[in-house]
Amino acid sequence: MSNVLKKISWSSRDHNAHAGERSPLLPARPQGSPEAVEDDPEVTSQDDKIQNVHPPSSPKEIPHTENLLSLKYESLDYDNCENQLFLEEERKIGPRGFRVVEISRWFICLLIGILTALIACIIDIIIEKFADLKYLVLKDKIDAFTLNGGLSVSLVIWATMNAGIVMLGSILVAFVEPVAAGSGVPQIKCYLNGVKIPHVVRLKTLLVKVLGVIFSVSGGLAVGKIFEHFRRDTEKRDFVAAGAAAGVSAAFGAPVGGVLFSLEEGASFWNQYLTWRIFFASVISTFTLNFVLSGYHSQFGQLANPGLINFGRFEDKNEAYTWFEIPLFLIIGAIGGISGALFNSINYWLTMFRIRYIHRPLLQVLEAMLVAVVTATISFLMIYFSDDCQPLGEDNVVEYPLQLFCKDGEYNSMATTFFNTPEKSVRSLFHDPPGSYNPTTVGLFCLSYFLLACWTYGLSVSSGIFIPSLLLGAAWGRLIGILLSNISNANWADPGKYALIGAAAQLGGVVRMTLSLTVIIMEATGNVSYGLPIMLVLMTAKWVGDFFIEGLYDIHIKLQSVPFLDWEPPATSHSHIASSDVMSHPVVCFQRIEKVGHVVDLLSDATCNHNGFPVVDEQDGGGSDHFGKLRGIILRSQIIVLLKHKAFIERGKYGMLGYRLTLKDFRDAYPRFPPIQSIHVSQEERECTMDLTPFMNPAPYSIPQDASLNRIFRLFRALGLRHLVVCNSENHVVGLVTRKDLARYRWSEHGLEELLLAQA
Ligand code: ATP
Ligand code: MG
Repeated sequence: MSNVLKKISWSSRDHNAHAGERSPLLPARPQGSPEAVEDDPEVTSQDDKIQNVHPPSSPKEIPHTENLLSLKYESLDYDNCENQLFLEEERKIGPRGFRVVEISRWFICLLIGILTALIACIIDIIIEKFADLKYLVLKDKIDAFTLNGGLSVSLVIWATMNAGIVMLGSILVAFVEPVAAGSGVPQIKCYLNGVKIPHVVRLKTLLVKVLGVIFSVSGGLAVGKIFEHFRRDTEKRDFVAAGAAAGVSAAFGAPVGGVLFSLEEGASFWNQYLTWRIFFASVISTFTLNFVLSGYHSQFGQLANPGLINFGRFEDKNEAYTWFEIPLFLIIGAIGGISGALFNSINYWLTMFRIRYIHRPLLQVLEAMLVAVVTATISFLMIYFSDDCQPLGEDNVVEYPLQLFCKDGEYNSMATTFFNTPEKSVRSLFHDPPGSYNPTTVGLFCLSYFLLACWTYGLSVSSGIFIPSLLLGAAWGRLIGILLSNISNANWADPGKYALIGAAAQLGGVVRMTLSLTVIIMEATGNVSYGLPIMLVLMTAKWVGDFFIEGLYDIHIKLQSVPFLDWEPPATSHSHIASSDVMSHPVVCFQRIEKVGHVVDLLSDATCNHNGFPVVDEQDGGGSDHFGKLRGIILRSQIIVLLKHKAFIERGKYGMLGYRLTLKDFRDAYPRFPPIQSIHVSQEERECTMDLTPFMNPAPYSIPQDASLNRIFRLFRALGLRHLVVCNSENHVVGLVTRKDLARYRWSEHGLEELLLAQA
């Protein structure tokens, strides 16, 4: 186990290119003196000691556990750099300009809402067409073969068709844009938390995602569509948050739920205006979707489809609940928690296995195809062996009836369940009249679908977890409802109602969302009176599930070693951890006026891949335990722009002569700053000097040496910081804290753990 290389599949191809290299693992820092390894000779010698204890090869390799934090993930700058250029620009813009900026923000939110809805419509319509096509092709075959025997031929056709379609989707994901795999929620969670996940907000990712979703749903995988189409080409987290809200809102017709989703799952930073704008995007998205779909269903202007995933209204008398059912709901919630935890544990082991052994794109595609074939086979077997025939209704609500071995005028209900897209199946489980399903059928379906959905999540396809969980929960919830009404013979136990509660419980047990999920389900079912039971169910599911294992998204975030900051600092009540324990030391600093050669050398030094550097007054001979007084902080990206434009004092490029760097020069380089290696500096230029003062952030946040971990964490989290400078009482720089230094501390059942920082 220990000689397995860690491979991070969220990252893009260029990182994978290095997957074969063995990355050095930074040694664990002893508790109490966690200092930056690359800068501290003491720790380096410890490194040697470790190397002597273990066989020489082992420290070079990274055992894959979730107890690592990857140094590869960088942070986003959620803190405004108020340097001189920025202030100048602000002065120039004036109050009118600010209004224009604000209006354009609203306009972008409008666009986000509209675009999200349009993309959702396109996906939905194409998937529906695919499903129709598949049904058409297979129905005739199956009908013919049922009469003449040789049904296995239609299995082969079905399986090949599914595998083919899934192959297209997974090739796209595995070879073109790996970050488009999965539901996207963990990635967006990280992005909004402040971690830069490469390629998350790129147009290419959006395209791959859209195509990937279409292929994987059409290919019959146990997935749901995801509509969080936040992968648009805007680099702003607020827009990403708005996009996430708009996506959920379009998917479920739940504008408020969308906003709350964004708030609960994503946005680390929130304010009143943002809430408004995001709500705006969210409502626009529901409306647009409604509008377009009404046109598509040729009832133009009759706004009857607020969301894509329509749970149907729960308005029937039978579907109301009575107070004495609440304990039953709680039990269902607990079952959901347990079943969700089981789901997550199995998926956790599966993901570990995938990280170790299935990291080549080709293997990933093969696995996805295998799953498609197995899914088709299992579905087929279950359809074949189930003799659950239901009469075809007068009103013909069943969209894809397959007769198989049933009498004329009847259809096989298992076949319908497997043939439908998952959200249609959810709807039937919610609303089909009692007696539509045979308990054995539903039971078998639950079991097989549980395993299939579990296997499917994490494949290299764009797939979500929402709909599969809802379907699974609806199935076992319905089963409970059927059993209840059999036992009690009472008509209060409407199976559809229990299907709804079960769906909520299962989804809550897997993803552990409470607030937003309650509202989403409430909005999607259009029934406010279900608010209380659904809230109770989701809370129970979360508590019970949390007792065993974390939510699915968090598991995946940890497995990718993302330095993710939780809402709350780790509990440190038993031991005081101060900034001096957390910080890196000594710090690589710059002075306000620096030699170009020195700057270039420092930045190109492989051991100094930091992104932020405190700017200090000249070192006052205090040795290495502290540096000069803190004057500001400057980012690597800013220095690179300076070097690129050769903003050297001697060249008179600014200050004395006409040309001055402006904020625009920095913006033009954003977001893909060139690496330092690509910047050419001649021998002569190395002798020049540069003045960092106008470009640095002159008011960085700093914290005293003995502040507690708790305090640093809160400051960091609330302000969305990237670097926090630790100063002594004379404002001399003594250390630096970054996200990774904080994310390293994690609270587990064994107490406070310290994770390792690894280069992978
Ligand atoms: P990020 O990667 O979050 O964008 P960064 O690259 O500047 O920011 P990290 O990658 O978090 O910083 O830093 C890795 C380790 O190096 C951390 O332990 C951090 O404290 C340390 N470190 C960061 N910047 C400096 C610096 N200027 N001098 C010394 N140590 C630093
Ligand atoms: Mg870094």
